[in-house]
Amino acid sequence: MTFKHLALAVSAAAFLLSGCASDEAKTPKHEESAHGAHEKHWDYAENGPTHWREFSKTCGEGHHQSPINIVPGKTVSLNPQYALQLDENVHTTAKVIDNGHSIKVTPKEGGYIVLNGEKFKLLQFHFHGKSEHTINGKRYDLVAHFVHQNPKTKQLAVIAVFFKEGKNNPVLDNILGNIGGEIRIDPQDLLPKDTQHYYHYIGSLTTPPCSENVQWYLLKQPDEASKEQIEAFRKYYVDNERPVQELYDRAIESN
Ligand SMILES: [Zn+2]
Repeated sequence: MTFKHLALAVSAAAFLLSGCASDEAKTPKHEESAHGAHEKHWDYAENGPTHWREFSKTCGEGHHQSPINIVPGKTVSLNPQYALQLDENVHTTAKVIDNGHSIKVTPKEGGYIVLNGEKFKLLQFHFHGKSEHTINGKRYDLVAHFVHQNPKTKQLAVIAVFFKEGKNNPVLDNILGNIGGEIRIDPQDLLPKDTQHYYHYIGSLTTPPCSENVQWYLLKQPDEASKEQIEAFRKYYVDNERPVQELYDRAIESN
C-alpha cells in the first residue's frame, strides 16, 4: 500500500491541515503574504486561543469544537458503524520536524483506519506537552494526535493516544533524538496494547482554522513515557494545548 502525499499538493487540503490535527507544513511567511493572508501568526501566547477567531471565525463561533472534557459517566454507547478498525502496521521512514507549534512526524507511507466503511490514511502525528482533551477535568502528561484523512472526501479523523508517566518508550526516544531528521518507524509501535476501547465524537481541529466535522477517537488505555521523555518534549512545547470547548448538542460515544 503506497501512500504518497498527493493530498498535500492540494493547497486547500494543506491549509486545512495547518490546524492541530495539523500542523501540517506551516506555510512559509512569504507564501502567506503572497496570498494576502494575515500578517499575524496564531500561537499559544499573545495570539493565543482567545484570539484565534481573528484567524478563523470558526474558532470563536463553532459549536462543534475540540478539545472537550469527557465525563465517562455521561457517555452513550458507540454507534457500531463507527467502530474503529486500525491498520497502522507499516514499516516506513518518516521525517521529524519542529514546526513551530509541535513536534511532528510525517511517515513516507502511512497506514490507515477504517470507520463507517471508509478508509482514512495516516498523514502525520504530532505531540502536545499535555493532553488537550481532559477526562473528568484531568489532563494526561502528553498526547500524540494521529491525523488521518479520507482521500475521497478529505474528512479528517484523529486518534488521540494519551501518555502517562511510567516506563521509557523507545519509539519516543527515536523521535526525540532525531528532530530535524529522518527515522525508521512503525506508527503502530506508538499505540497502546488496547486500541479497542475509546471515546468517539465529532469535533474540530484544535488549532486555527478550527475546521469542524473531524472524527475524534480518544483511546482509553494510555501509553507510557518516562519522566525524562515527558520533560524532553516539554523543553520544546508545554503550553500548546487549547482550552476545552463547550460540548453544546454533542454526545460522546464510548465502548
Ligand atoms: Zn494536535
